[in-house]
Amino acid sequence: MSILACVIIIVLLVLAITVLSFVITKYVRRNLALSRELSEFKTLCDLMQTPIWFKDKKLRFTWVNKYYCMMFDRTKEQILGLTDLDIAPKKLVKNYIRDDEYVLESKKVYRYKENDKAGLWFDTVKFPLLDSQNNVYGLGGVAFNITPIKKSETSLHNLIHNDYLTGTANRLSLSVEATKLISECDEFGYKLAVVLLDIDNFKDLNDLHGHVVGDELLKSMAERLKRYASDKNILVGRFGGDEFILVIYKIKDEKIISSYTNDIKEILLKSHNVYDSEFTVECSMGVSVYPNNSKDYEGLVRYADMALFYAKSHGRNSIVLYNDEIGESNIRRINIETHLKEAIAHKELYLCYQPKVSADGSRMIGMEALLRWDSAELGFVSPAEFIPVAEQSDLIIDIGNWVLREALLQNIEWAKQNNGEMSSMAINLSVKQINKPDFLKRIISLLEEFNYPPNKLELEVTERMLMSRSNSTKEDFKKLREFGVTISVDDFGTGYSNLGYLSSFPLDIMKIDRSFVTDIKNSSEKQQIVNAIVQLAHSFNLAIIAEGVETFDELQYLFSKGVDTIQGFYFSKPLKNIELPKFIEELKQGKYKQKLKNVQSSK
Ligand code: C2E
Ligand code: MG
Ligand code: MG
Repeated sequence: MSILACVIIIVLLVLAITVLSFVITKYVRRNLALSRELSEFKTLCDLMQTPIWFKDKKLRFTWVNKYYCMMFDRTKEQILGLTDLDIAPKKLVKNYIRDDEYVLESKKVYRYKENDKAGLWFDTVKFPLLDSQNNVYGLGGVAFNITPIKKSETSLHNLIHNDYLTGTANRLSLSVEATKLISECDEFGYKLAVVLLDIDNFKDLNDLHGHVVGDELLKSMAERLKRYASDKNILVGRFGGDEFILVIYKIKDEKIISSYTNDIKEILLKSHNVYDSEFTVECSMGVSVYPNNSKDYEGLVRYADMALFYAKSHGRNSIVLYNDEIGESNIRRINIETHLKEAIAHKELYLCYQPKVSADGSRMIGMEALLRWDSAELGFVSPAEFIPVAEQSDLIIDIGNWVLREALLQNIEWAKQNNGEMSSMAINLSVKQINKPDFLKRIISLLEEFNYPPNKLELEVTERMLMSRSNSTKEDFKKLREFGVTISVDDFGTGYSNLGYLSSFPLDIMKIDRSFVTDIKNSSEKQQIVNAIVQLAHSFNLAIIAEGVETFDELQYLFSKGVDTIQGFYFSKPLKNIELPKFIEELKQGKYKQKLKNVQSSK
């Protein structure tokens, strides 16, 4: 071999070695970079607080990150080579396999939100693994834990759709649901009923036991309503305060409405245990029906509300279905309210005074101021009609203040005409008045302003008002009594049967309600009631007055049982201010003297 050939071979060899080493270096470098990249990628995946996994075409795990291992409480080695059939919750496996196969076949990314049935939510992405020829050789997946987002979504949904206290639907969501249900009624010939349910005297209960107890009671009621409704076509919602709203849908026969509402009344009536105390609540319901009363939800609610108002003002604890008469009485109520607002300014109100006379007709014991309204628009309206409206709308506060001033000024005027001799003036109070924080101050400052003797003022309150008054009201009355004012219980016997208030409330007089007096001679039941009331009054050291005495027989019977003060048409109807002095004069002259048999044996 020539030297030249040798040189060429050497050069070629060097060249080959150089190229080879260059190629090898490049290859090694690339591999090194790849494995570094892979390791970096794996480190990153292991750091992620979310499960990541890779599978082969047979759906066997080829790689999983640390979080995935933690979720299934296994090491990587224990997972690799297994399939979902071996490790995933049984309920979910079928879905996992179905989704994986879809990704393998379609070669598409598949994304969905899933609930792992253990309270966690995931936003899952599955993607195909493709080689350079676009052939699938496996799939990968990552599931982002979106539980916190879901939770806030849920609470936001609840906030928007549910009542925070009772968990029932709120007004807004119920109206959306009900409107939807109404739109389906005609197609299937269904009817739909809206029921407004209101707890009788809930405010009293709240005042007496506090809002925490009131809230618990509402929750207990809501639970019962929800349980009852759960297997029926009834939606339950809270309308606000102590009002619930029920929507009964898919009604084929209207009879179901009364059957459901009666059930509900009974269910709610059973005693509720709140903080280890038992509470019973009565409620009133107003019902309206689609399409009978209105074609839209708002209309149905309005009519149900009118029916509820009617139920509450006619004895409570009842279920009233809306009818035209209720509609008319509502129009009347609105009319009364509208014109009553102007009544004081237009000088349409005035007072009548009904004497309270000793049973033998010899002495004037006092008088009761009774409000009258001669409306320019509506004519004469009875207080039995306008006072409840005034109480509902708060107008009673201004009106009540007007009555107080007017009655005291009138009595002062009569005293002036009578050489300073003054009868006691009784004034009816409304619950709204005594609830005002300045109630005590207002009365005392009025007495001081007029220099009016407190012992010539009597305040009439009803049992219902006393039953649940807060301690502060009790204190107010105690102070008024210390000041010399007399306190009487009006309409006694018609309110609560619970008489606990008699021992705790500062009282002087009990007024037997007219309903027990009327025709008492012919009713042994009324006689028994009156006997019991008289005994009760005596044992609590209270004076007693009978209201609504119209006949001599009633007077004689009451007197024989120890009732010595009488108020009623028998002696006098309520009189206008100009008429009263004449009555007093005639009384003094003995015109009303009675020949009573003094049979006080049972006293
Ligand atoms: P009340 O306080 O129980 O007043 C007695 C009611 O019985 C009065 O009705 C009176 O006219 C009526 N009455 C009295 N004796 C007889 C009788 O022998 N036979 C019959 N059939 N009725 C008799 P009135 O004046 O219609 O008042 C009704 C109710 O309105 C009162 O009942 C009272 O609760 C309320 N009221 C009247 N004036 C006021 C007021 O100034 N403020 C408040 N808050 N309520 C008032
Ligand atoms: Mg009265
Ligand atoms: Mg009365």
